[in-house]
This record gives sequence, C-alpha cells and structure tokens, in this order.
Amino acid sequence: MNQDNLYQKVYIEEICPQCGNKVEEIDKDTSTERDMRLYACSVCEWSDYIDVGIPLWKAYSEFKKLNNK
Ligand SMILES: [Zn+2]
Repeated sequence: MNQDNLYQKVYIEEICPQCGNKVEEIDKDTSTERDMRLYACSVCEWSDYIDVGIPLWKAYSEFKKLNNK
C-alpha cells in the first residue's frame, strides 16, 4: 500500500468538513460488512459515519475461505 495515500486518508477523516476542527472517532460499526467509523466534531456538533473499507474480520474470513480449498 502506498503510504502517502494512507496518510492523506487519515488526515481527511480527522478534519471536520464543516468547521475544519479536529474530529474524534466515537463509534465503530462493522455489522454491515463495511468498517464504518462514527466521527464527531465537538465544536459544531457535526457527526457522520465514514466508510473506511472492509473490516478486519471480513478480510480474515475471506482469507480463510481462500486457504480452505
Ligand atoms: Zn465541526
């Protein structure tokens, strides 16, 4: 994986799209087979789920499936 892209992704996720302040990860939901993180801004009270890819457990079960052939 390209390290520059990874760094940029994290940077975007930690900045509030409304006021530009730092946001905090307050919850995580992987029940939909996607790794959804709930981010919230304490300044303007913006909050939203951000899709950060497939969750680890999903990647692991796919990996196991491939190796059980
Ligand atoms: Zn904000």
